[in-house]
Amino acid sequence: MNSSPVNSELSPHILVLGMGGTIAGLAPSPELNPLAYEAGQVEVGELLTKIEQMLPDGLNIISRQIANINSSNLSEPLLTELGQQVKNALANSALIGIVITHGTDTIEEAGLFLQATCGKYAEKLGKRVVLTGAMLPSNAIGADGPKNLLNSIQWASTAIDNCPGGIFAVFAGKVCMARDLAKRHSSNISAPLLDSPSTAISLINPSWLALVKAVQAALPDDLPIPDAEAWPWVEIFTSHAGARTELIRQSINAGVSGLVIAGTGQGGFNSVWQESVDQAIAAGIAVVRATRTGAGIVRPNIPEKDSEGCMAAGTLSPPKARIALQLAINAANESSVRGASLPPRWQDFFEPQTYQDPTNT
Ligand code: ASP
Repeated sequence: MNSSPVNSELSPHILVLGMGGTIAGLAPSPELNPLAYEAGQVEVGELLTKIEQMLPDGLNIISRQIANINSSNLSEPLLTELGQQVKNALANSALIGIVITHGTDTIEEAGLFLQATCGKYAEKLGKRVVLTGAMLPSNAIGADGPKNLLNSIQWASTAIDNCPGGIFAVFAGKVCMARDLAKRHSSNISAPLLDSPSTAISLINPSWLALVKAVQAALPDDLPIPDAEAWPWVEIFTSHAGARTELIRQSINAGVSGLVIAGTGQGGFNSVWQESVDQAIAAGIAVVRATRTGAGIVRPNIPEKDSEGCMAAGTLSPPKARIALQLAINAANESSVRGASLPPRWQDFFEPQTYQDPTNT
């Protein structure tokens, strides 16, 4: 084994970027109460030293700390920083692949963001970017972080026949496309990919591989990474029994750029919202309907006809639809600033997201 975080970026290497999370967490009483801990305490270089002995001989690892946060505090400028670091690193011909240690609470947002801004680029270069994290803090007995980190480095560095480059995530011995990440359990060790199409990293399921290729072929070109301060303001509103309209109206008056509706069932919402939603659309605010159910597809004009201009989120969960909408609005803004004769609308970028996912009907 010959891995060191100080190896040169000019020779073949894996880059490990640290964002924080439980994988870097510490519990004051790990034996008694491993679930009472603080996320984002341990440097990524130190996490690597714990698996040093298990890394393949001669594999150069370089690590860089971008942040060390509880990912519930993930910010848009931090996503910009992460996206730029990933894009720049991918451009280095000596880079084999990238692993990102990240908190699981918002890893689905980071996954969608990286897929939408760097996914096609990684695929074209045949390089893998792998998100990982942990459900137990680093000092818990049976901590899952070291194995997840090791598996992610394997997935990022092993030449696996016919498995394309792209943005992936590894947890509990399984891999999924990063866009499929969805934390659907508060504490299960596989929580971030519990319900996602996935395969064992040690034995790739051919039908999963076929799905990856089909999804990648259907995904649109990479969108620009917004400048740190250029992210449009988009809010999520969850429809529920007894919904009221005041907060939507306040958001419109406060200058929100987009609304994601986390609707009931197939993305429907309480009819008391209809007037303010139409008012938002008339004011040029982008509106997308998603579902709060946690699975399935939201289709246009189902179950009822959409207001003109309102889009359906397809397979995207409300937090993913929010990131996608921010990126789409930003892309449309950038094109109009560049003076295109017919600038695209945010809907033009958002529409392809509603493609049919064969595994998720
Ligand atoms: N609160 C943690 C975080 O997202 C949870 C985790 O990483 O599992 O940073």
